[in-house]
Amino acid sequence: MLDHNASVLLIYTGGTIGMVEDAEGALMPFDFNALQEFVPELKRFQFTIDTIQFENPVDSSDMNPDKWAKLVWIIEDNYAGYDGFVILHGTDTMAYSASALSFMLENINKPVILTGSQLPIGKIRTDGKENLLTALEIAVEKTPEGTPLVTEVCIFFQNLLMRGNRTTKINADNFKAFNSFNFPVLAEAGTQIRYRHDLMHRPLRGSTPKFHYALDPKVAIVVLNVTQCASGSVGMSRYQAGKRLQELGVLSGYDITTEAAVAKLMFLFGLGLTRGEIKIALKMSIVGEITV
Ligand code: ASP
Repeated sequence: MLDHNASVLLIYTGGTIGMVEDAEGALMPFDFNALQEFVPELKRFQFTIDTIQFENPVDSSDMNPDKWAKLVWIIEDNYAGYDGFVILHGTDTMAYSASALSFMLENINKPVILTGSQLPIGKIRTDGKENLLTALEIAVEKTPEGTPLVTEVCIFFQNLLMRGNRTTKINADNFKAFNSFNFPVLAEAGTQIRYRHDLMHRPLRGSTPKFHYALDPKVAIVVLNVTQCASGSVGMSRYQAGKRLQELGVLSGYDITTEAAVAKLMFLFGLGLTRGEIKIALKMSIVGEITV
């Protein structure tokens, strides 16, 4: 159910979606306050959309734990005032940011949806409008009981709503830029938006959201056995080679994406856990990032 009285906070961090061509055809970020000029359809939504932008919008290759913490701060600061949050982000590292935020925004009971585009919003054939408009619509979807339908960090791109920490960027040209290889999509937008209610991650019963800021950025190489295949899981005891790694102390990453593995390790080290505790946490699904 669309909640027409709802309100969404739209956060622009940077990336192609928020760019327009100058007279010479070069891409440059536009003032986000002028968003309605490029997407007049926004006026047709009855719900409220407020916008906020990074003071200096960044190419997503410049995203880092400090900027993720800034996003967490914006969301915590505005959490009570909005029904949902949509983050506009460059596609190159969107899967990393979505993974990190999924751990940093613990037990949220509102949607946080990242989206972006392959073509700037000012281009006639842009995929940005569709991505933005549908992400906004999903952000105000409610259950019949009036609670938010989506209660986790997601990426919406090319008609698919995916669990953020399950996504990988797969294409730099195609409008279908992301995939969720090891977990089904949470919703598909066609003439109607079809949701997989049974798959949504829900906050722990009786919990309140907890906002985490400390990530340990000293995670450069994932010393974790992850599969190089796009789909499937590591089975460490299946072959001698895997067993040897196990003997050397390499842990299995199960079916985790590399993006989520990096974010999870930064998060766990940031919590100041011991090695033993981290080993245990790596075997567990915290926000649906692995299939146990
Ligand atoms: N380089 C851009 C970025 O990730 C590409 C994009 O927005 O899709 O910020």
